[in-house]
Amino acid sequence: MYFRQLFDSLSSTYTYLLADEASRDAVIIDPVLEQHERDAALISELGFNLRYAIDTHVHADHVTGVTALQQRFGSKRVLGERAGAPCADVMVKEGDRIYFGRHSLEVLETPGHTAGCVSYVSAEPELVFSGDALLIRGCGRTDFQEGSASELYRSVHEKLFELPPQTLVCPAHDYKGRTMSSIGEETELNPRLGGGRTLAEFEATMAALKLDPPKRMAVAVPANLACGGAPDPLHSVPTFDKSWAPIVESAAGVPQVEPGWLSQHLGAVAVIDVRDLDEYRSDLGHIAGSELRPLASLAIAAASLPRDRPLVFVCRSGGRSGKAALELARRGFYRVASLAGGMRAWNQQGLSVEFGLPHGISSERQG
Ligand code: FE
Repeated sequence: MYFRQLFDSLSSTYTYLLADEASRDAVIIDPVLEQHERDAALISELGFNLRYAIDTHVHADHVTGVTALQQRFGSKRVLGERAGAPCADVMVKEGDRIYFGRHSLEVLETPGHTAGCVSYVSAEPELVFSGDALLIRGCGRTDFQEGSASELYRSVHEKLFELPPQTLVCPAHDYKGRTMSSIGEETELNPRLGGGRTLAEFEATMAALKLDPPKRMAVAVPANLACGGAPDPLHSVPTFDKSWAPIVESAAGVPQVEPGWLSQHLGAVAVIDVRDLDEYRSDLGHIAGSELRPLASLAIAAASLPRDRPLVFVCRSGGRSGKAALELARRGFYRVASLAGGMRAWNQQGLSVEFGLPHGISSERQG
């Protein structure tokens, strides 16, 4: 595998370029907008086909280069499903894989620094792109963007520290000139999370940090929720009718309804589940009466969606359903919303679910 670590000195961000040398298919992880000319020149020089430009999370300290690279190479923009950024072309969740040639990266959801943080694992060579979940002898802060010290502790201990100890840790930043570490080294030596530190010790450490907000946060977070792209008419945030429900708009402009409200108003809306069939049948279940319209086929299904009732889109955790709500609003459906937190939040609140196949599909046809 071709592997390069690149650096942006203004934000101390590491960007990684990976490629399959035979097929020339490549991915880039955490590109920085100001460095996109440098990155594009390298990709072109090496004759790579950039397939995916990935952000490990919605960064608060720099603007992402994923849209600039997409405009140059046609690559797809990838973010975690829980990142709350409907601009992403691919929203990944635990266990998904991003393929480039004969190589792939597996997604580990590692929330805690932000709610939508994911890490990417390469099995051969053994690498983990840990974003800001695990840094060299440190970790990302947990005091904004739905950060949570207890969630980060679990992400690192239950997922990252479970990787083989020789796995190289490739972080999104380092501020002291270090480049990489290993899982074994961090498990033993990370002063916040390693050496047997307990959850209580970690929470106390993080609570005592009292950091200033990142200098560029006010610019970077809204820009990154739009994938760092200049707003264009096709991707602009449409206007909605908000009179039919207590709609709360997310930071990325997605209209959302809460699970409790939806459970009380199922008869008045059409619930459209945009997950895949396997997820619809999974142990999270689905909402009674919901129609299955996987996101990939939603544009085709738009003509057959009801227009007499508001549409509430549902997915696993609210990412794809947010994308669906914005997409349908652009197609002239003004009474739309996404279920905040998706089926995960619905289940966490103990609301009732059904299992099995969607209406109209018999089990015999499933083989
Ligand atoms: Fe970060």
